[in-house]
Amino acid sequence: MREITHFIDGASVAGSSGRFGDIFNPNTGEVQARVALASVSELDAAVASAVRAQQVWALVNPQRRARVMFDFKRLVEANMDPLAEMLSCEHGKVIADSKGDIQRGLEVIEFACGIPHVLKGEYTEGAGPGIDVYSMRQPLGVAAGITPFNFPAMIPMWMFGIAIAVGNTFILKPSEKDPSVPVRLAELMMEAGAPKGVLNVVHGDKTVVDAILEHPDIKAVSFVGSSDIAHYVYSRGTAAGKRVQAMGGAKNHGIVMPDADLDQAVKDISGAAFGSAGERCMALPVVVPVGAKTAEAFREKMLAEIETLKVGISTDGAAQYGPVVTAAHRQKISDYIQLGKDEGAELIVDGRDFALQGYEKGFFIGPSLFDQVKPAMRTYQEEIFGPVLQIVRAETFEDALALPSNHQYGNGVAIFTRNGRVAREFASRVNVGMVGINVPIPVPVAYHTFGGWKRSAFGDTNQHGMEGVKFYTKVKTITARWPEGAVEDSAFVIPTMG
Ligand code: NAD
Repeated sequence: MREITHFIDGASVAGSSGRFGDIFNPNTGEVQARVALASVSELDAAVASAVRAQQVWALVNPQRRARVMFDFKRLVEANMDPLAEMLSCEHGKVIADSKGDIQRGLEVIEFACGIPHVLKGEYTEGAGPGIDVYSMRQPLGVAAGITPFNFPAMIPMWMFGIAIAVGNTFILKPSEKDPSVPVRLAELMMEAGAPKGVLNVVHGDKTVVDAILEHPDIKAVSFVGSSDIAHYVYSRGTAAGKRVQAMGGAKNHGIVMPDADLDQAVKDISGAAFGSAGERCMALPVVVPVGAKTAEAFREKMLAEIETLKVGISTDGAAQYGPVVTAAHRQKISDYIQLGKDEGAELIVDGRDFALQGYEKGFFIGPSLFDQVKPAMRTYQEEIFGPVLQIVRAETFEDALALPSNHQYGNGVAIFTRNGRVAREFASRVNVGMVGINVPIPVPVAYHTFGGWKRSAFGDTNQHGMEGVKFYTKVKTITARWPEGAVEDSAFVIPTMG
């Protein structure tokens, strides 16, 4: 059986823990490979390599580091097709979506290509008599990233793209469910000219995550995954004195105002709710039509839209979405559908019985649609992370605004309307981190930043853009004078520059 190994100090490392995780092909349900799960000793080896590499890498000038990023981008583009296929066959998302996953990561690499400009710092000439003040951003040393299964290319690139460009070295602990693409990215980074040890990949579970959180030479940890683990990583990592950003789960709402272009909104929401089988943290699993008329019309049109959806294997170019990542995840989604029924929501479309001919053992689940979902229901309060769309009816704009604002998660939200004033008021008042106006999945472009509010993110900085640069650097401020002539008395009071 194919074995997926760690990537430490520029080489494949089998590891000695004797523990492995199964890698499924979600299309067929078969185990297609096994991944080595690290023990503390593999992490120690990766950190030792990263520490050595960082001493050299931090001295490489920024434009040379940027050139490695340019070459990495070129190599990933040249490998787009095999990478997308590898990703689809471990994750289950369709090829077009896998290419999107890689492309959105590459956009952060493009941002990292401009790192010399970003790192220039600030300078004040003559802040006092003969005194100049300037600041510089310096790398932290070794940083680590712990990533989820649902974007195995984009999220690692969000993290290591910036961390490495600013002069850190990096330990990536990808999801143990789809680890092949992250390893390939690390190999391509070496091919692009990064010295060995600059990017290491260590696979594993809680054992290695805990070791990362405790390792004294790891200065910063970026995490993306579910909220309980995000909170755990944030608490434990910060208690160990590290800088930590930890993004968590989501339950994004789409508000449909009575004046919205309903046909467009239905298409957009269908793509955002069911695309990638709902396994996106920016998916739109809750729709809030405002007013009974909007709700009835939306429900009817969404039903017709669902009829047109094609679920297929991840390499089927005609399929809108493929299987979910594991049988256990499919079971979890099915359990939530049953719970929704038991809680009294109206299950209009039930995707549980879906089976794909010839792929009966694959982890497929059809689209499901609920109406009459109420805020007190667990299925509304919790993240399902599957192809399940819930209609929560609201009577007024204020009621609709309150729903995402009061929800425990605050990752993304979208409003569909033709009224600019209403959209502006919504964007200003809603208690959520990323807002779309007639945009169903408002994932910000790479030079802005990504991050939710409330239980969708712990820590103060977002992912990528300038927030990413801040997270992976520390600021040093220098106050300099070059006195000449007679020695002056130093004052014993706090110096001012009057
Ligand atoms: P997960 O929390 O199960 O796993 C994320 C990472 O944590 C993995 O690397 C995993 O190995 C590790 N991990 C799992 N259990 C652990 C434990 N007990 N102790 C220490 N580490 C542990 O998440 P997932 O299922 O891979 O991904 C889906 C989740 O990620 C969803 O909740 C989704 O909303 C969220 N997500 C959030 C964002 C965001 O930016 N907010 C983006 C993508 C995904």
